[in-house]
Amino acid sequence: LTVLGLESSCDDTAAAVLRTDGSSVDILSNIVLGQQELHAGFGGVVPEIAARAHAEKLDLAVEAALKHAALDLSQIDAIAVTAGPGLIGGVMAGVMLAKGLAAATGKPMVGVNHLAGHALTPRLTDGIAFPYLMLLVSGGHCQFLLVDGVDDFTRLGGTIDDAPGEAFDKVAKLLGLGQPGGPLVEAEARMGDPERFALPRPLLDRPDCDMSFSGLKTAVLRARDGLVAAQGGLYAQDRADICASFQAAMTDVLAEKTRRALKLYMDRAPQAPVLAVAGGVAANQSIRAALERVGQAAGARFLAPPLKLCTDNAAMIAWAGLERMRMGARDDLTLAARPRWPLDTTSAPMLGAGK
Ligand code: ATP
Ligand code: FE
Repeated sequence: LTVLGLESSCDDTAAAVLRTDGSSVDILSNIVLGQQELHAGFGGVVPEIAARAHAEKLDLAVEAALKHAALDLSQIDAIAVTAGPGLIGGVMAGVMLAKGLAAATGKPMVGVNHLAGHALTPRLTDGIAFPYLMLLVSGGHCQFLLVDGVDDFTRLGGTIDDAPGEAFDKVAKLLGLGQPGGPLVEAEARMGDPERFALPRPLLDRPDCDMSFSGLKTAVLRARDGLVAAQGGLYAQDRADICASFQAAMTDVLAEKTRRALKLYMDRAPQAPVLAVAGGVAANQSIRAALERVGQAAGARFLAPPLKLCTDNAAMIAWAGLERMRMGARDDLTLAARPRWPLDTTSAPMLGAGK
């Protein structure tokens, strides 16, 4: 079975081809056309610019994915497409192209929840069994998911405000570093003192798995302004120390909340327990190492798919589509693009089914 996947829910236009013979699966191509430079001057992704860029580039991404896989469209058996959640203009561009391709080829099509794509990736890369615990930690998301099946997710908790990647990006901005901020803050942190600034570890007093990061960002702002007021500016060491202190706080919160989520998961006595992470922030070595320690301490295997499959891509959409189709899922021209689509209800949205 050969599946073409399409992804266009944020600022990456992506297409990928997966092939499976039932026992193994190969990623024949995985094309990601980023559009970050188009949004660079705006301090965030501009929905209208993103939608136009997806509309312009999606067919090129599909063409490149087919070419790289050395296949033509007639050799594709099915089409999987992100149907939400995300910026609606981009999602619509993807869904419309998928419908067009499905109508033209007569091949089945299936809509995929973008978050399910992230959450099912460890099954693509490592073939792990349900149930596993997933921490999705990116620029737009932060949540713990109990993954019990292809369409069976339970959210154990998550951020109540900013996502960690967003916080890394804002801290980078406050300190005059570039974007995306995550890797730059991490590089600074390596040269800094994580104990110089006592930054808050929000919500650790609460027993649940919820997190909050906007206060952390405000505390960084205060630390910076305090230094500027006292000494007229920031020295390189100040910047490194702020980054190190921020990263330490972020790491502590994620590690402690992961410990609590693991407790809930391990209580279900899984056969081969796995803690998996996905999302761009999983690239952070400090956070990754802490999560690995927490996982191992609880007796769970720690799994972080390769970064290219952790951040937005279409291979994960093709995979999630394949998994859904194996369960008998099919969509038709009534498939709707959804700006919001909580993971607890993964059945594909239909046109007119509400927001
Ligand atoms: P989503 O996929 O949830 O819609 P997104 O596209 O912004 O959001 P990703 O592409 O998964 O998310 O990840 C990008 C985010 O990861 C950015 O916020 C970036 O700063 C952060 N990030 C990348 N590398 C690192 C790192 N080494 N340390 C911390 N954060 C990082
Ligand atoms: Fe994503």
